[in-house]
Amino acid sequence: MKILLMGPPGAGKGSQSEKLVKDYELTNISTGEMFREAYRNNSPLGIEAMRYINKGELVSDEITNEIVRKRLLRSDAERCFLLDGYPRTVAQAEALDKMLEKMQSKLNAVINIVVDKQAILERMVGRRVCKSCGSTYHLSFKPPRVDGVCDSCGGELYQREDDQLDSVKNRLEIYETKTKPIIDYYSKRGILRNVDGMQSFDAVYKDIKQALGEVI
Ligand code: ADP
Ligand code: ADP
Ligand code: ZN
Repeated sequence: MKILLMGPPGAGKGSQSEKLVKDYELTNISTGEMFREAYRNNSPLGIEAMRYINKGELVSDEITNEIVRKRLLRSDAERCFLLDGYPRTVAQAEALDKMLEKMQSKLNAVINIVVDKQAILERMVGRRVCKSCGSTYHLSFKPPRVDGVCDSCGGELYQREDDQLDSVKNRLEIYETKTKPIIDYYSKRGILRNVDGMQSFDAVYKDIKQALGEVI
């Protein structure tokens, strides 16, 4: 099963993929998380990528396609994976198609989480992330049991620099111009399903599972 989870920044992709990968035993491939991890490990790629990320800009297609290509070649991505946050441009979607074709493989389903702009802003500004394991919380909608501390690993929670209002606005604009056209790209193939993201975590999850049942 090869799934792609789409939606604007803050839609809930990361939150939903945490559950999906466990239930369906999928390998989670999140380019945003890969960049943040590379940065935490002080790698040159991570430091270079973070210059763009912090401003709310996209990392170049070349760099992004290359890390995904390498990731897809690892054995744990051979049968089942969930892509979150990639592709984000039509050029990336075309590159992904070529990579999968070479591996004699293809995407089975694309889930697009739909949320309105006000909710996006609220969700991003209140988002907190674990420094150690990358788990996501929200100050009001999903608070950790202990303030500032990750429920799963005890790590310290922080606010991403790109979740400050200036970067958020930039990211939303980029989403509209560069990422939204991909919806059309996949809906023409009949494998895309829209899911209403303006519901509780559990209700969104239920709808995603139902949508997956329809296409796979
Ligand atoms: P994305 O990966 O699409 O950017 P996240 O999963 O990180 O989105 O969610 C953004 C923020 O919104 C997080 O703080 C998360 O806890 C919160 N969130 C996600 N889904 C919901 C929901 N259905 N209801 C309320 N808050 C949500
Ligand atoms: P969100 O779901 O909140 O948008 P992500 O964790 O998916 O956040 O991505 C964070 C940032 O990492 C993006 O704003 C962008 O700068 C960079 N990034 C992630 N994925 C890609 C991609 N496929 N192409 C270019 N840049 C990316
Ligand atoms: Zn943690």
